[in-house]
Amino acid sequence: MKELIVQKYGGSSVADPKRIMGVARRIIEYKKRGFDLVVVVSALGNTTDELIKLAKKINKEPPERELDMLLATGEQVSIALLAMAIHKLGMEAISFTGAQVGIITDRTHTKARILKIDTRRINEELKKDRIVIVAGFQGITEDEDITTLGRGGSDLTAVALAKVLKAKYCEIYSDVEGIYTADPSIVKDAVKLNYISYDEMLEMASLGAQVMQARSVEVAKKFNVIIHARSSFSNKVGTIICEGGKKDMEDVIVRAVTLTKDEAKITICDVPDKPGLAAKIFGSISQAGINVDMIVQNTSRNRITDISFTIHKDILNKALRITRQISKKIGAGEVFADSNVARVSIVGVGMRSHPGVAAKMFEALASKNINIEMISTSDISISCIIKKRHGILAVRAIHEKFGLGGKR
Ligand code: ASP
Ligand code: MG
Repeated sequence: MKELIVQKYGGSSVADPKRIMGVARRIIEYKKRGFDLVVVVSALGNTTDELIKLAKKINKEPPERELDMLLATGEQVSIALLAMAIHKLGMEAISFTGAQVGIITDRTHTKARILKIDTRRINEELKKDRIVIVAGFQGITEDEDITTLGRGGSDLTAVALAKVLKAKYCEIYSDVEGIYTADPSIVKDAVKLNYISYDEMLEMASLGAQVMQARSVEVAKKFNVIIHARSSFSNKVGTIICEGGKKDMEDVIVRAVTLTKDEAKITICDVPDKPGLAAKIFGSISQAGINVDMIVQNTSRNRITDISFTIHKDILNKALRITRQISKKIGAGEVFADSNVARVSIVGVGMRSHPGVAAKMFEALASKNINIEMISTSDISISCIIKKRHGILAVRAIHEKFGLGGKR
């Protein structure tokens, strides 16, 4: 039997007809080298964003079932065009929606989970020596409603297919050449990583690295699907995402520095320092469906304390409204918001066994006179909230301090 590769092409890789033809050529090359191919595609360019905008022009809060119905059309366009492109180049391809290849999900519209995949149809087509093209980001519920898998969900489609079809590996194509030690557009000597572990990639994805959807990395880790993240615009080898513990993966303490600007900070002043108040505050906030990220409570003076936390900046207004209500209820003081913040983070599994990493990061910030407003840590990452205007300087200073740079 031939070996199977699952490839996924992101929106920018299929943004226009010329790029679609380029992707078709690459697929055919693999086919000629003797592989079976299942190819997952995202919607063309920014189609998904445009569709969301369009929906909101009609209804600011569109029913989620209908939103899924709309968003799923994006990928249906790209699969058909890609199949046509392959035919044009003289090979056989067949396109399928998620529903057609039995990607069954739960009913959580706009962020559905895949429950099972029925591989029968895909295997039939592969046996006929066809290239199978599957719409990313979508599935269908058991009672036949179309669902989507969350933004960036084509990655998840690809990883899940790689798992159930027992693919040799899963290639994720985008417009960047892999995972870097820092965003190469802000750090000149950032280096592409040869390997990164699932845990590090997961941490980076949730810290805003856009290369892969966080959930897809989770699933890849769970089922040990080896991912090759690379660019559709070059033939260079990208970054392999796999289980940690590889020889040349071990010595690195800090793998990468990341920067995100999508958080805002809320501070409640003069909170009475009594048992149960934090539970009350964050209970009400979570009941409103607001996800809190970092939390810092200052040591109290005279039994009064300040509490700060961060949230996604898109929900700042709602969060502020609710926090002000709670503050009043519990007899706390004023509530301030600050959306001029950024989060700079370092990620690396080596931190688990090396002390002094945090101190070194703080020194890097101090050397540039950058004030740290909040700190949070996990066992493989450290994040600091700083002023947004210091974001780039902070990334550069930390990158240099840990000696992550190299020749590109
Ligand atoms: N087109 C969808 C999105 O933009 C899915 C994807 O690109 O993976 O989120
Ligand atoms: Mg996309």
